Amino acid sequence: MTEIEQQDFSNHETGNENCKVCEEGYPHRCQCGGLIHAEIAEVEGSGYVELTRCEQCGMPETPA
Ligand SMILES: [Zn+2]
Ligand SMILES: [Zn+2]
Repeated sequence: MTEIEQQDFSNHETGNENCKVCEEGYPHRCQCGGLIHAEIAEVEGSGYVELTRCEQCGMPETPA
């Protein structure tokens, strides 16, 4: 198992649909009405993974 580094989303701009900290194309609107922010995290041995988290409910973005 590869441990994914915990990302700290606290530097994201809560409530800002044009959050500059997010990856391109984010934030997305969450079902709960909050904004889902995204960051790229480096994973040892397997490159990079995109992490998403809603600022309001704390859930990652779920594929439709
Ligand atoms: Zn963001
Ligand atoms: Zn949410």
